Amino acid sequence: MIHLPGVPAPLGRVIEILSSLPGVGPKTAMRLSLNLLSRPASDATQLAEALTVLHEQVGFCDVCGCFAEQGRCQFCDDTRRDATTVCLVEQPVDVLMMERGHGYRGVYHVLHGRLSPIDGIGPEQLNLVALDQRVVEGVAELIMATSATVDGEATAHYLANRYHEDRDHSEGGQQHKLKVSRIARGVPEGGELEYLDEHTLSRAVDQRISWDRVGL
Ligand SMILES: [Zn+2]
Repeated sequence: MIHLPGVPAPLGRVIEILSSLPGVGPKTAMRLSLNLLSRPASDATQLAEALTVLHEQVGFCDVCGCFAEQGRCQFCDDTRRDATTVCLVEQPVDVLMMERGHGYRGVYHVLHGRLSPIDGIGPEQLNLVALDQRVVEGVAELIMATSATVDGEATAHYLANRYHEDRDHSEGGQQHKLKVSRIARGVPEGGELEYLDEHTLSRAVDQRISWDRVGL
């Protein structure tokens, strides 16, 4: 419990809670708390109510593991999306980042982690049973979009091998070919090459696309 001279305990409590959030230091927490105190009481009540129902009403999609209010998420429910193209990401927040691009029209599967032998996280700890089922039911393409970290890369390799197209994913005699791909990790829009790390740059070169496909 933080003790701040001259600060009433209830205010100190709010400052303490807010300063425990990522990216919020004690000064920002103090400013936010004082701002809440200066507003009408109804604003604080609204915030408290929104936080109260957050865990009650937001869970994970039964199919893909994205955020969902109930049962299935908006992506799995969207019939305009290509349900046979599945993008694999580590966390639900990665889906939100992908969606900011507005270009992807397939669906997702959230692993809820990545392989990390040091932390004792193996395939059993990832959301793979549901993915196995989806693959059997008919997925045309799996796109690896795990993080560009050592563990993220290892996870992508593991998954690519697990769902390799030569494996028999058939069910009830129906065979289908499964394509496995990976997002290119390139130069960010507007990014100066000098600020890129060497791995990003060398990979951007490795995964270059033909100029006539750039669309300039
Ligand atoms: Zn879903």
